[in-house]
Amino acid sequence: MDIGGCLGTAALAALDWVFPLRCASCDAPGESPFCGVCAETLIALPPGCPVCGAPADDEVLAALRPRRCLHCRQRAPPFAQASAPYLHGGALAEAIHRLKYERREDLARPLGLLFEACARPRADVLAPVPLHLSRLRERGFDQAALLASEAGKRFALPVEHLLLRVRPTGQQVGRDRVARERNVRDAFAVRGHVMARRICLLDDVLTTGATASAAAQALLAAGAARVEVRTLARAP
Ligand SMILES: [Zn+2]
Ligand SMILES: [Zn+2]
Repeated sequence: MDIGGCLGTAALAALDWVFPLRCASCDAPGESPFCGVCAETLIALPPGCPVCGAPADDEVLAALRPRRCLHCRQRAPPFAQASAPYLHGGALAEAIHRLKYERREDLARPLGLLFEACARPRADVLAPVPLHLSRLRERGFDQAALLASEAGKRFALPVEHLLLRVRPTGQQVGRDRVARERNVRDAFAVRGHVMARRICLLDDVLTTGATASAAAQALLAAGAARVEVRTLARAP
């Protein structure tokens, strides 16, 4: 339900009073999603690989464009393109950590505004990258699902839960690229109708792209026409 669409201005003002705007990173009142100080730490995704979005440094950028990064040239990822509005760091990393690990699911809504700064995917539907049921029980909510519903409003796209994480994969943090790929291989199963559809996966952070690749692989194997990836942040 779109609360803003159902309430009058006075009711919205009352809502602001009950739930005042606060910075998603430091809780400073009055500004959302970030206060001025925290907003300074946001870094828009710099130019880089046209496939996976990996930032390229300035010297090699001219030579690189429009070429793909080394990883994508060695082995193209199954998704057509991955993009995010900002690099993972500063206040955004802090806010994402609070969302996931400090039971701050209320932050999904303000953080979802950041998808405004991201190109609209060439897709028919958004599909969140799901948690395994055991992790969902532990956390109580699925941050990718919450972010997908906010991104759906920004991109005017429907959200469908087209994937299941069929085995627990534990933390990817601390594993290298190869270990990450091994860890998430065959971790996803498709549920629902994906045949010939263009699907955009939605998640909080893209690091090596191993999880997104495994999810994209499952969708393509089930007949999806094209898979893109959007995350709130991308590892630098
Ligand atoms: Zn702040
Ligand atoms: Zn790349």
